[in-house]
Amino acid sequence: MQTIKVELERNSYEVRVGAGILPRAGAWLRDLGYSGKAVIITDTTVKGLYADVLSGGLARAGFSGGILEIPPGEGLKTLEIAGGLYERLTDAYVERTTPVIALGGGVIGDIAGFVAATYLRGVPLVQVPTTLLAQVDSSVGGKTAVDHGLLKNMIGAFYQPRLVIADVDTLKTLPADELSNGMAEVVKHAAILDAGLFHYLEKNIAEIMARDAGVLEEIVARNVRIKAGVVAQDERETGLRAVLNFGHTVGHAVEAVSGFTLKHGQAVAIGMAAEAEISRRVGKLNDDAVSRLKNLLVEAGLPVSVLDIDIEAVVSAMRHDKKVTAGHVRFVLLDAIGEAYVTDAVSPSLVREVLSGHG
Ligand code: ADP
Ligand code: ZN
Repeated sequence: MQTIKVELERNSYEVRVGAGILPRAGAWLRDLGYSGKAVIITDTTVKGLYADVLSGGLARAGFSGGILEIPPGEGLKTLEIAGGLYERLTDAYVERTTPVIALGGGVIGDIAGFVAATYLRGVPLVQVPTTLLAQVDSSVGGKTAVDHGLLKNMIGAFYQPRLVIADVDTLKTLPADELSNGMAEVVKHAAILDAGLFHYLEKNIAEIMARDAGVLEEIVARNVRIKAGVVAQDERETGLRAVLNFGHTVGHAVEAVSGFTLKHGQAVAIGMAAEAEISRRVGKLNDDAVSRLKNLLVEAGLPVSVLDIDIEAVVSAMRHDKKVTAGHVRFVLLDAIGEAYVTDAVSPSLVREVLSGHG
C-alpha cells in the first residue's frame, strides 16, 4: 500500500492506494475518531460488487448504518437525486458527525460529495473510488457537483474528504471502455508534469490494460501524488491548477457538441491530441513528442481524432466554457512531454485547422 498526504491549509487528508484494502476502511474510520453510524452512498452496479466487503469491514469496526443506492449513470447526477438522498439521510438519522462514504465512480463521488458538503452544512466525507478515473482524478481535490440541465457540474462546492481509499483490485471488474476513460487523465498528468511517468506508461501499457495489480497501484499512486501536489498549491483552482486542463479546452467542447455520446476520457483524448498538435504548430512541441502522445492514447484504447463533428459548434462551445475569463479562451499547451504552459493566444482559425485535420 502507498499513502499520499494531500497537504492543505486546513483539513489535510490521506489517500491510501493498494490492492485489497477495501475491508480495512472500517478500522481506518475508527482510527480517524468516528464511531456509531456510517452511511454508504453507491450505485446499483457497484453495490452488487463491493458494498458487502465495505460494510463487512465497517461492521467489524463497530459501525452500523445503511447503504443508499442510486441507479448508475451520468444522467442522474441531478439536484432531484440529491434531494432524494437528503431525505434518506434524514430517515437514517444522520448527524453532523456521521461519515458519508462515496463508493463508486466519479458520478457517485460528485453527487455523494455534494450531498455530504451540504447536508447539515457538511458531514464528514470519505471517498472510495472504484473507477480508474475517480481514483486518479476526481476523488482527489475536493470538487463536488451536480449537473443542471445540460450544464455539467454547474452547482457544486469545494469540499475536501477526510480520507480517500483507492483499492486497485476494484478495477478488475471495470468495463474496458471505463478503464480507457481513466487512462486519459493518467496520460494527461504524465504529459503535463511528469516525463518519467510518461515513459513508465509507454513501457507498461500492456500490463495496465491487463490490470496488473502492482502496476495499477504504482500508476494510481503516482497520479494521486501529481494531482495532490497541484491541489495543495492551488486548492481552489485560481492558478497552477489550470495546467490540469490540458486536453480539456477542446475536450469539453467536443464532449458537449457530441451531445455527451463521447465519454469524458474519449473527448479529453481527442482534446489532448488536438492541443498537442496546436503546440507543435506554434513551434513548441516536436513531431516525435506528438506521435508518442498519440500512440500512447491509442494503446490505451482512446480516440485521437473525430470524424463528423461540427467544428464551428466546437469553437463556439469553447467560448462558453465556465473556465473562460474576460472572453479569453485559455489553452494548456506543451513545450515538451512533462512540461506545460498556459496561454490564451491561440487563434480560433488554428483550432479549426487542427480539428479539420489539415492546414
Ligand atoms: P466515472 O468515474 O468515469 O465518472 P461513473 O461513476 O460514471 O464513472 O461510473 C461508470 C460506470 O461504471 C457506472 O455504470 C458504474 O456503475 C460502473 N462502475 C464503477 N466502478 C465499477 C467497478 N469497479 N466495476 C464495475 N463497474 C463499475
Ligand atoms: Zn477531466
